[in-house]
Amino acid sequence: MTPDIRPLVAGNWKMNGTRASLDQIKAIAEGVKTDLSEKVETLICPPATLLYVATALCDDSPLAIGAQDCHQAQSGAHTGEISADMIADCFGTYVIVGHSERRTDNAETDHLVRAKAEAAYEAGLTAIICIGETADERKGGQTLDILKRQIAGSVPDSANSENTVIAYEPVWAIGTGLTPTVADIAEAHAFMRDDITKRFGPAGHTMRLLYGGSVKPSNAAELMAIANVDGALIGGASLKAEDFLSIFGAYKTLLD
Ligand code: PEP
Repeated sequence: MTPDIRPLVAGNWKMNGTRASLDQIKAIAEGVKTDLSEKVETLICPPATLLYVATALCDDSPLAIGAQDCHQAQSGAHTGEISADMIADCFGTYVIVGHSERRTDNAETDHLVRAKAEAAYEAGLTAIICIGETADERKGGQTLDILKRQIAGSVPDSANSENTVIAYEPVWAIGTGLTPTVADIAEAHAFMRDDITKRFGPAGHTMRLLYGGSVKPSNAAELMAIANVDGALIGGASLKAEDFLSIFGAYKTLLD
C-alpha cells in the first residue's frame, strides 16, 4: 500500500464469460456496496461482448467496468478491433493495454502499447498499462532493466495519476499459481515508484502500481500489504464473485 493512494482491485476476465456469467458481475456489483468501497476501488474487465450490459448492471454500484484492449486509432478500417471511444460509448471507464498475452500473441510492442494508452486518454479512459519480465529475463537478472525499458516505452509522457495505472505482472506468474517472493515484489514496486517519480514528478507519487500474477483469496492480504502495491490485477480468481469479493475484503483488515 501507499499512504494516500486509493487501491484498485481489478479483474481481467480475458476470453472468458458469456451472458450466463453476468450473474457473477451482478453479485460483485452487489458485494462491493459496502463502506470499504469508499477506500478501495473495484473494476471488472469482461470480454467486449459483455461490456455494455455489464455497465448497465453497475448503474447503482461502485463497481467500474472496463475493457481488455483497444485499438490505437479512433475509428476506421480495422476489422475486428474496438476503439477507446467505443468503450467509453458503452460507459466503460478503464482499458487494459499491453497485457503480456497481447504482447506475446499479437506481437504488441512498447511503442504500440503507448499509442493505445494515448488513444485511451483521448477517449477519457484510464489506461492500465501492463509490464513484466519473462521467466528467462528473471533468470538472467534482467527484471528491473525490463521494467525500466517497458515503462519508458509504454507509458506516454502525458500520463498522470488519473489517467494511468501501471500493473506489474511477471509473465511467469500469470495463471501459473506461482508468485514472486514478497521481497521481490517490494523491490520491483519500489523501483517502479522511483522510476516514475523521476520522470513524472509529483504525479509519480500518486500513480497506482498494481501487482498481478496468481493473486487469490489466500495470498491477497500478504501481497496487498507490500509497500507501493496499490491493488491487484486478477485473472482467474476474478471470474468467481466469491473469490473476487474475498480479495477485495482483504483490505478490511489492512485499512483498519
Ligand atoms: C492476468 O491475466 O492479468 C493475471 C494476473 O492472471 P492470473 O491472476 O490468473 O494469474
